[in-house]
Amino acid sequence: MKIRILVPISTLFFLALSTGVFSQNGAGDFGFDMPDVRMHLLFLSSDELRGRKTGELGNQVAAKYISEQFRRIGLQTADSLGSYYQDIDFKKVKPPSDGTFQTDFGTYKVGEDIIVLDDYASESENQLVFANYAWQGDPKINLSDLEVEGKWVLAHLGTPEDQDFQNALFNYSREKRKIVKDAGAKGLIEIYQGRIPWQFLARFLSREQLSIADAGEDESDFLYALIDGSSHEELQTIEAAMNSDAELIHSGRSEIKLSSSNIVGILPGTDARLRDEYIVLSAHYDHVGAEVQQGNPRTLQDSIFNGARDNAFGVTAMLTTAQSLAKRPLRRSVVFVAFTAEEDGLLGSEYFVNHPVVPLDKIIFNLNTDGAGYNDTSIVSVFGLERLGIEEQIRDACSSVGLGVFGDPAPDQNLFDRSDNVSFAKVGIPAPTISPGFKEFDEAIMEHYHQPSDEAATLDFDYLLRFSRAYSLIARSIGNSAKRPRWTPGDKYESAFKELYGDLPEVIEEEIPKKKGKKKKKKKKKSTT
Ligand SMILES: [Zn+2]
Repeated sequence: MKIRILVPISTLFFLALSTGVFSQNGAGDFGFDMPDVRMHLLFLSSDELRGRKTGELGNQVAAKYISEQFRRIGLQTADSLGSYYQDIDFKKVKPPSDGTFQTDFGTYKVGEDIIVLDDYASESENQLVFANYAWQGDPKINLSDLEVEGKWVLAHLGTPEDQDFQNALFNYSREKRKIVKDAGAKGLIEIYQGRIPWQFLARFLSREQLSIADAGEDESDFLYALIDGSSHEELQTIEAAMNSDAELIHSGRSEIKLSSSNIVGILPGTDARLRDEYIVLSAHYDHVGAEVQQGNPRTLQDSIFNGARDNAFGVTAMLTTAQSLAKRPLRRSVVFVAFTAEEDGLLGSEYFVNHPVVPLDKIIFNLNTDGAGYNDTSIVSVFGLERLGIEEQIRDACSSVGLGVFGDPAPDQNLFDRSDNVSFAKVGIPAPTISPGFKEFDEAIMEHYHQPSDEAATLDFDYLLRFSRAYSLIARSIGNSAKRPRWTPGDKYESAFKELYGDLPEVIEEEIPKKKGKKKKKKKKKSTT
């Protein structure tokens, strides 16, 4: 006789725990307590780690600490890595500061009028072709109608629909370079005419900047530059398909290579039907270093950016959650990952998503934790709270440790798209960030945000413990639930979700029957403070 047990006893136990049926949430339930959070936080934010700047010794020591915690907890390594380390090669480039860019219509000074962001030749000549926006659906020019093979393409920054310089630089530019490259061109020069003064942008772009060193990139001879169209009228009125001779000579470029690592550990799930699905629990461990911040030396009293809140706090929540979940694993498998290079532009998470250790379409959820700090220890803040169909699960988990929930502080800052969760969201994976409690950027946040005073001595450890427990309970709840998180209809990441997973049923198995005698009332939707 074949007996099919639909709901194992252990599942009911996990469900009971995850929905806060246990009234007493002592260390026994969680598997970690104050000494654990103190140990992680005090080590990771110590002066000896000197701000954990990507590629520096303190960053590597933090990585070693996290990997040894994974080993102690008993997490597995990913098959494709063979260790807890996902190594990443980076390059730190300072653009050329001197030189000239000569065309038939004008001469421009390198470092002032034109910022050369990518170029491996210090002296080159080519034909220049103007292609309006060099974008699909451009009303003036179809790129494929132009002779761009082997030439440099000149184009307006952005797209015909969107010229916002942040979108243009951080979202469209990379895609545009690919479009132009695929058309056979040897370079792209984008014309800037945005609302931010050019001098300000030029200074920002001229600083030393970290990026991922893609394999084979060194052999590339593709030029990428940004030119000031705001004070050069000839660049605003340039005619479609214009051709010109061009010569670029520059000097003062520097490039150094360095390496750092994401730290990755895996906890297999317990349910035969669900263990092929993964939730990713993540927190970045890098910070901004010591001594110098944006070119300014710090005071003699303190020059180390300890990053206790940002983000030793989140790594502590992730490590204690690993400890908790390893003692009573979830139905789904869990990937724990500590990202590097978040402060340099979310590079560690970008690399992780481009080089996933488990198939991306098997990752059903990412719960990232990161934050600028906190000014309200009665709540947690969740970027994306109302966008994923899991608000009630999050509220229930937090209320069992006495915390309220606040969704999306400072909506004008678009915080959802400014932490590592967005690397997952971009490919469609439901991915909120849970942050220590705050409702807006005020003086209390700015006092410690990216300051040397963001250190253990100014931290509320009771809150850190509760936050870590809330984080573990949310993970437990989603990792055990029959229902998968999904974007609300019309969300900007919904189409990526459909592309990644195809058509998913709302609930992917029989709904687990509610435990008899469950007394909990449906929670109010408003945030509690
Ligand atoms: Zn951070």
